[in-house]
Amino acid sequence: MTSAEQTVGILLAGAGIALREARLLLAEASGLADALIVAFPERRVEPYAAARFQDWVAQRRGGRPVAYIIGQREFYGRPFAVSEAVLIPRPETELLIDCALEYLRGGERVLDLGTGSGVIAVTLACERPIARIVAVEQSAAALAVARRNARALAPSAIEFVQGSWFDSVTLRDFDLIVSNPPYIAAADAHLGQGDLRFEPAGALVGGETGMACIEHIVRHAPRYLGAGGRLLLEHGYDQGQAARHALQAAGFRDIRTWRDLADHERVTGGVAAGAFAVT
Ligand code: GLN
Repeated sequence: MTSAEQTVGILLAGAGIALREARLLLAEASGLADALIVAFPERRVEPYAAARFQDWVAQRRGGRPVAYIIGQREFYGRPFAVSEAVLIPRPETELLIDCALEYLRGGERVLDLGTGSGVIAVTLACERPIARIVAVEQSAAALAVARRNARALAPSAIEFVQGSWFDSVTLRDFDLIVSNPPYIAAADAHLGQGDLRFEPAGALVGGETGMACIEHIVRHAPRYLGAGGRLLLEHGYDQGQAARHALQAAGFRDIRTWRDLADHERVTGGVAAGAFAVT
C-alpha cells in the first residue's frame, strides 16, 4: 500500500496496539482532533503524519510508554511535558493534590520534595496561586523538565532547588511538605514490567524495602515545618501502616491515611510534634 492511501481507519486498524493509545498517537502525529479521529475513519492522513504514526506505533510495540513517545502526560487536567528523565505522572498522585488542597487556603509555604516533572508543585501553584512553593529535585535533567512545566503552566513563580531531599533546603517553617518519593522495593518484579522498565530507577526505587526515602523524609521533616505544619506523603498500596508507624516514631500527630480510587491506602500525613493543629 502506498502511504497516500492511508486513512484514519486503516492506520488504527493496523496499529496492533490498544485502540485508546493508537488514537492518542495518531492525534499527536497528525494534529487531527481526537473527535475527528473517532468520528471519521475515512479521513485521509498526510503521508508524513502516517509515517510518524507508524514509527511511534513501532516504539510502542517495543514497550516505550506513550507519554515518552509524545513527550506529554495529562495530570489534574493540565498537559505536562515529560521525558525519560522523569517519572510519568500517575493518577494516584492526583489524590495527593486533593489532600494538599484541603490544607492550602492562602499564602502558605509549601515544599515539594523530589519534584520530578514538577507535577505536584506546578499543580499546587495553579490551584493556589498565592501559595509560596519551593520544589526540590536531585536530577538536573528532571529539574529542567519541571522548570519548563512551571514556565508553561504555573501562574506564579516556583522556587526550584537542586539537591537531595532536604540537603539544599535553607528555608524553615513550611506549612506543608509534600512528596511522592520513590517507594518501590528494589527487588519488586514490577520494575521489570510495562512502563516502569523505561522510567528512571532513581524515581522508582526506595531502597530494599521501598521505605527508605519515606523514612528519611519523615525523620527530617519536623525541622523544616512551622507551627501546625503538615507532612503529606504518597506511598505504595501496602505501605500505609509502615508510613503511619514512621510518622508516629518521628512524633507526628493527627496521623491520617487516604485511599485512592482503587481503594488502596495511598497518602499518609500528620502534623509535626510541637506544632499546633490548624483546623
Ligand atoms: N513528584 C513527581 C511525581 O509525582 C516525581 C515523583 C518521583 O519521581 N518519584 O510525578
